[in-house]
This record gives sequence, structure tokens and C-alpha cells, in this order.
Amino acid sequence: MRTLDSTTSLRIAVQKSGRLTDKTLNLLEGIGLKFDDYKRSLLVKCLNFDVELLLIRDDDIPEYVEDGVCDLGFVGANVVEEDQTDVSILRGLNYGVCRLSLAVPKNGDIQHIEDFNGKKIATSYPGITGRFFESKGIDVQVLTLSGSVEIAPRLEIADAISDLVSTGDTLKANGLVEIATIFESETQLIKTNKPLSNGKAELIGKILQRIEGYQKAAKSRYIMMNAPQESVPKIKEIIPSLKSPTVMPLADNGMVAIHTVIPISTFWDVMEQLEEAGATGIVMLPIESMIV
Ligand code: ATP
Ligand code: ZN
Repeated sequence: MRTLDSTTSLRIAVQKSGRLTDKTLNLLEGIGLKFDDYKRSLLVKCLNFDVELLLIRDDDIPEYVEDGVCDLGFVGANVVEEDQTDVSILRGLNYGVCRLSLAVPKNGDIQHIEDFNGKKIATSYPGITGRFFESKGIDVQVLTLSGSVEIAPRLEIADAISDLVSTGDTLKANGLVEIATIFESETQLIKTNKPLSNGKAELIGKILQRIEGYQKAAKSRYIMMNAPQESVPKIKEIIPSLKSPTVMPLADNGMVAIHTVIPISTFWDVMEQLEEAGATGIVMLPIESMIV
């Protein structure tokens, strides 16, 4: 076991190769961390911060963070919940969104949760699945499989499955229907509960703050438009702006350019109203990061 040493780098666990890998590395680069070629090594040094990445299987991440081998980790909530590891959850990150669902063969004899009594369920998540049925007082047999769980009913080795679903296409293709969600998941940033040096704690604070700015930026758009000067009061009413918009005179007589930031969720409503209010040449741009 590594001893606590303020000279060691902040070590962050990231899935080596899988659904979370690119999004996590993009996030880390998006908040300004620069890395050497991470395809070549399992331990990758950050070029501009005292940080290193450990690239491992996602199943190992919570335990490495719990033991303090890694200080931070990016991993699905489902993996943290499965083994109920002792780590702190710093933040939910809205990617890797999925749900652990119970699914059964279409037109079979299981329709409701109660029908599971005495049935056999195949899953890669025996912990979450077992605890779910225990809490309901329903007696099931859990068969642990490490992958391709959706084939189990067809092979007649299980009556139902408990598996991760995002679109539901895989279930459908295997003649299965979802009947209940037992856990909602997204990627989380987790932190060790082992003591950290002041330097590491400070660095974690900085990383968290940058992630917050990055997430806000992802939900916002910079919007620019031209409008007649007399439309400005009406446009100001329409824009649910974080701060007052920038209004600049244009060379064209009586016209102004208006720049502001809006939540992406309001964009289409706002755009239609702006056009009605006389705005033209409306342009929307993504924002890289935002400190508000
Ligand atoms: P590893 O080799 O690292 O063990 P894996 O095969 O267990 O990889 P992936 O399939 O890459 O893992 O999934 C990683 C995480 O992505 C899951 O734990 C889950 O949090 C999330 N995820 C999002 N959508 C899905 C989905 N439809 N199926 C499976 N996982 C999903
Ligand atoms: Zn895995």
C-alpha cells in the first residue's frame, strides 16, 4: 500500500477502455489538464498539473479509490453502489446515463414485481439486484454473469434479467421487455475517504470548480443577434439572461447587435420570440467554460 506522501501526484482512476473513457478524457482536457499520449501507458502523467491518471477496468475503480491507491475516480454510480464502497461522491456528471432494469421475455408469465417470487434472475449486478428484492421481501435466485446477460432467458438459464439499459434496443432485439427500473445511474466523480495532503485537497477543489464551470458551459449557449434599437426593451424581456445583455450600436442606422448567454433548454422558445420581436441574424455558439 502506498504511504501518504505530499510529493506524490494526485492520482485519478479512469476507465481504461469502454463507454466512459472518451467522455472522461474529454472532460479532463476540457477543464485544462494536458496529457501525454494516454493510449500507450496505464499510468499517464499530466503535463501541466501534479496529476496522474491510472487507466483500469471500471469495476476496479471504487476499490482503488476506497483504498487510497487513487485519490479520485470517474465511474458509474452503478459500480459504486454494487459493492457499496466507502468513498465520497463529489459530483454527478451527466454522461454514462443508464438504468439497471428488470426485463422479462415478452408475453411470459412474469408481469409484475410480485411474480418474481421463486424465479431465477441473471445479472452482472447481484448486489443491487439482491438488495432490491430483499427490501421487497421477494425471494429470488440470482445468477451472476459477467456479460451478455440479455441472452440468458433464451438459453433458459434464467427466467428474467437485471441489466443496464440506456436506449432499450438491446432488450428489444432479444425479445425482452422492461418491467421496472431498480437503479438510475450516471457517471460520478468519487474521492477517497483516506486523509489527503493539503496540496491534494486544494487541487481537488480546483478541479471541482473547473468541472462546475465546464458543466454550466455545456448547458449554455452564447447568442448573438441584430435588432432595431426600439426592439431592445422587448428583447431584454424575452432573454432569461444570466447578466444584462451586451448591446452595441451597428453602422446601420438605428440597428444594434445584442450578445448574451442563455440556457440551452430555452433556445428554441427564445429564438422564435426574438424573431417575432424583430431580431435578425441570430447566431448561437457553444461556450467552452464559464465562471459565474
Ligand atoms: P470494463 O472493461 O472497464 O469492465 P465494462 O464492459 O464493464 O468495461 P462498459 O460497457 O464500458 O463497461 O460500461 C461502463 C459504464 O457505462 C457502466 O458501468 C455504466 O455506468 C455506463 N453505461 C451507460 N450506458 C450503458 C449501457 N447501455 N450498458 C452498459 N453500461 C452503460
Ligand atoms: Zn466493467
